[in-house]
Amino acid sequence: MKKRIMVVDDSRVLEYQICKLLEDSDYEVVAYCENGEEAIARYEEVRPDIVTMDIIMPGIDGLEAAQIIAEAHPNARIIMISSLAYDDTIHEAETIGAKLFLYKPIDRETLLSALDQVLREDEAVEPTGSAT
Ligand SMILES: [Mg+2]
Repeated sequence: MKKRIMVVDDSRVLEYQICKLLEDSDYEVVAYCENGEEAIARYEEVRPDIVTMDIIMPGIDGLEAAQIIAEAHPNARIIMISSLAYDDTIHEAETIGAKLFLYKPIDRETLLSALDQVLREDEAVEPTGSAT
């Protein structure tokens, strides 16, 4: 079964790009949200395996939305995807529980390895003795 991705970005172009990049992969986009408010609400119903989160959006921005989702769901896997490259933004993204930070434009290899990585990190903390 494919892993389910929820894309959050105020530009739907990014969703099209990610859908395209994920063709013939183990991942699929199952939901798209255009702002932070929507992301917080839809996370509850969609329960995606991974969220990709833009930073700059009208209203609740991606950092705030990621923080709210991560507080309510400590196991949420959130990858920030932004064209912003300032160090303090990366640091802030890490402190609120984002697992990874990618820069636009993204390519297939970078995206797939980021998605694989956040799933692997979870496996690594599972109790020893579980099936590998
Ligand atoms: Mg944006």
